[in-house]
Amino acid sequence: MSDLHNPTPSNPSATLSASHSLSSEAKAQARKSCEDLLAFLQQAPTAWQAVAAASKRLDQAAFTQHDPGEHLRLQPGDKGYLVQNSSALLAFRIGQNPLTSGFRIFGAHSDSPALKVKPQAVAPSEGVIRLAVEVYGGPLLNTWFDRPLSLAGRVTLKSDNPLQPQERLLDLKDPLLILPNLAIHMENKSNDGQKIERQKDILPFLCLEDGGLTVDKQAQPRDIFKDLLADRLACQPEDILDYELLTYPVEPPCFCGLNDDFISSGRLDNLSMFKAGLDALITASDQAPEAQGIQVLLVTDNEEVGSRTKQGAASLWVRDCLERLVLALGGDRQDFLQAFPRSFMISADLAHAVHPNYPEKADPGHRPKVNGGPVIKMAASQSYASDAKSAAVFRQLAQAAGVPCQTFINRSDMRGGSTIGPISSTLLPMSTVDVGNPIWGMHSCRETGGSLDPYYMTQVIQHFFSL
Ligand code: ZN
Repeated sequence: MSDLHNPTPSNPSATLSASHSLSSEAKAQARKSCEDLLAFLQQAPTAWQAVAAASKRLDQAAFTQHDPGEHLRLQPGDKGYLVQNSSALLAFRIGQNPLTSGFRIFGAHSDSPALKVKPQAVAPSEGVIRLAVEVYGGPLLNTWFDRPLSLAGRVTLKSDNPLQPQERLLDLKDPLLILPNLAIHMENKSNDGQKIERQKDILPFLCLEDGGLTVDKQAQPRDIFKDLLADRLACQPEDILDYELLTYPVEPPCFCGLNDDFISSGRLDNLSMFKAGLDALITASDQAPEAQGIQVLLVTDNEEVGSRTKQGAASLWVRDCLERLVLALGGDRQDFLQAFPRSFMISADLAHAVHPNYPEKADPGHRPKVNGGPVIKMAASQSYASDAKSAAVFRQLAQAAGVPCQTFINRSDMRGGSTIGPISSTLLPMSTVDVGNPIWGMHSCRETGGSLDPYYMTQVIQHFFSL
């Protein structure tokens, strides 16, 4: 570990230019942490694969996966996790005084905007088999054009018990789809903000009708898409009952820029925060045995569509899981309710870096920079959960971890976005701060972030999880 892990900076403002003050050892760690993030992003094209990839890493770090129906019994030092809908996850480590020290929760979301395949998928037109899709969340639709795309998600299959269909995760990996733009010669307003029609303009192409993978003109017309899924799952097409499959760009995540200052990938929002929390929980579980409270990595699904699902931040699942931890430690409901004032939550979702081509879009006094460290997000509207007290806590955590810290507010005439913080803190009435690393092009299918920021965020959370 470098001395950056727990320094006490003599001049706190010096940390504001931390990229220049990083030791070579810390820079090497930042690089390694970023390389591992890029690998994770590639393993995680959707929330389901993200939770599966994280579960694998937790298993390797000796966290026990608990069945949702299990009667939990826990004690200090135990570490484990619970999965909901295969797309949300709550991982925990029990500190030394769990019933009197409260929770330290780091929250993120697992889903990202994309195009979602409709139940009747095949949509032929002009000799081309296209896939019918609807829009999941709020993607920058123009970024999905002219890129090789693939599909991932989950498929449900017939089973002996109608209440428990088989669930199989599927990542097709190959560049099976493409959504070509219309030539500029056919629409000369394309560079002037042409509207993209969701029902008509965004159906990606799978193949030619007469050159299709499994089209057999002698046989009955077949559902070519179901055939493709059955082929990849090694099952019969008639066994497939349903699916949730989303597009993703197949080009691998990468460093970019002259000095590898940047990273380019789909789903930085919000898998980069998921990964930072995962790394911090796993590392802290080895390096901070004296931690007092209950450390929790909470990753919920469906933030991009409002969080109001059984696996979303507005679900009682989250609160029930936390109460179960207290009961499993021998506490009662009073212990659970008394934990809230002693608890703290960091809700992490990405933030907007000031864009050099659009400097007027950022508030003049709040201009987060890429590789400038985590950003505290504030809003008078309370679309972020941060307040003076919770922001102060995060500033102190960052300072103790030797990490620079920035602040974001929207311009007064822009509404901006929201995140899980205000939703979860309504259900979990504990002090909560909204933070996130600064990126450009949020909700593009390739977002651009900084190559040092993932390391910075992980350092702060590791410190948080050691308390
Ligand atoms: Zn997000």
